[in-house]
Amino acid sequence: MSDRRHRFVVIGAGMAGILSAIKLREAGFRAVTVYEKADRLGGTWRENTYPGIACDVPSHLYSYSFAPNPDWSHVFSPGDEILAYLEDVARRHGVTDCIRLGTEVTRLEWRQGRWHVETATGERDEADFVIAATGVLHHPRYPDIEGLGDFEGAAFHSARWDHTVPLEGRRVGVVGTGSSAVQIVGAVVDTVGELRLFQRTPQWILPLDNPPISDEDRARFRADPTALAARRAELARSFADNFANAVVDAASPQMRMIEELCLANLEQNVVDPDLRERLRPDYRAACKRLVVHPNFYEAVQRPNAVLVTERIARVEPAGVRTADGELHELDVLVLATGFQVDRFLRPIQVTGRDGISLDEVWTERPTAYLSISVPGFPNLFMLNGPNGPVGNFSLIDVAELQLAYVLQLIEPVLRGEAAAVCARRDATERLEAARVEAAQKTVWVTGCKSWYLDDRGIPAAWPWSFDRFREVMARPDLGDFELTAAPQVSPAAR
Ligand code: NAP
Repeated sequence: MSDRRHRFVVIGAGMAGILSAIKLREAGFRAVTVYEKADRLGGTWRENTYPGIACDVPSHLYSYSFAPNPDWSHVFSPGDEILAYLEDVARRHGVTDCIRLGTEVTRLEWRQGRWHVETATGERDEADFVIAATGVLHHPRYPDIEGLGDFEGAAFHSARWDHTVPLEGRRVGVVGTGSSAVQIVGAVVDTVGELRLFQRTPQWILPLDNPPISDEDRARFRADPTALAARRAELARSFADNFANAVVDAASPQMRMIEELCLANLEQNVVDPDLRERLRPDYRAACKRLVVHPNFYEAVQRPNAVLVTERIARVEPAGVRTADGELHELDVLVLATGFQVDRFLRPIQVTGRDGISLDEVWTERPTAYLSISVPGFPNLFMLNGPNGPVGNFSLIDVAELQLAYVLQLIEPVLRGEAAAVCARRDATERLEAARVEAAQKTVWVTGCKSWYLDDRGIPAAWPWSFDRFREVMARPDLGDFELTAAPQVSPAAR
């Protein structure tokens, strides 16, 4: 019988950390602590509170499979509703008591067969297993623009929205045209006095409507859980067929369909031919992360909106100076400039077997066996780790599958047949080579710059179908793992 007294430390109380706590408790483990550096759970949905925030995975799909929510307000529900959902799920599953808020893990060291954990406040803990649920799009990337610190107005990153700054009637600049910027523009254009969108690269926009879910439908989902489950299954299938499997096959008919929809959106909805050309990308749709928005083009064509395509030269006290010499005077500057996507559980100092640090192993770039396990770092598992399906599927589905995989992987340790488990180096290298080769077929390498691409220009993402991901996650291939022998205990010592 498995020994359920093993101790788990989970890092991060976002979507994946909450999931881990719930599933570990369900599996019978009582010794589970989730460390969360912030004073509230919710991860990305706690941090990103900018106007217009919503998830572009349909809400009935962007929900835990075990906690369907009949009450989503919209097809793509807003961020605060998602945050409330996560808090509610944590509460209803009784895991809030194991979450230590305001406690940042700073060090992890593998010593004498256990993880030694240190926090920013100097607390120490030990664990048999660590699950890093630290997120991907987490550390804001601030642009390297000269003079940014000289700006006399309010300037903040989209993921650090300053709600004390009023926008009504003011001159607001937004840097960036990613998913965050586009949502912000759509949400604030009618509030602000003047909006200047600083575009370095145009984006393709998939114009999906975001209708409210009717009271009748919500009542139906509440009364009939099978209808809700059927809705989720239908969305999962269509998301996989029409998007997830399309982006990994640049030549697929579904990819062509996405391109046609984006092109028609641009052609039909931007009136002024000059503006239309300035908004026209010169790369294929979904090469960069596809931006989904019902009416972005409408927003940029408002009389108070200006699309600025001149390069930003510098920021000055009064605003942004572009390379053509024009000063764009502003009261507020929003930096919707994305995230450092190669951090994962860093800046935590992680020291694995034989004193090797994760920073050393990841000097060139982060890698892991199936995004989950790093050779030399036993009993440490990442959810949504490096090179995973970050841009293909609902990250909730991804984390659920990964966690179920990890729970199988640790069974030999729980049964006392091994002391620790981690991926073999040769298996990790073999898989990585296959991944790099398969990535050549994806739409991400068809001629754009994006956060998907690593320093070599190779997509740091899962390049195969969702069905393949599900298959691979169904059962670990223990031949690809090193199982460290359990210490021999003499009968006398038992
Ligand atoms: P992003 O996609 O990385 O976009 C950053 C934007 O900032 C790009 O347009 C980039 O231009 C621009 N930029 C960066 N540095 C700049 C500089 N120095 N000067 C001028 N422009 C600069 O970031 P994001 O919009 O925050 O989105 C990140 C990811 O989060 C998304 O791809 C998505 O996966 C997720 N997300 C999802 C949703 C949703 O579900 N709806 C919403 C928000 C975010 P270039 O294109 O030229 O590099």
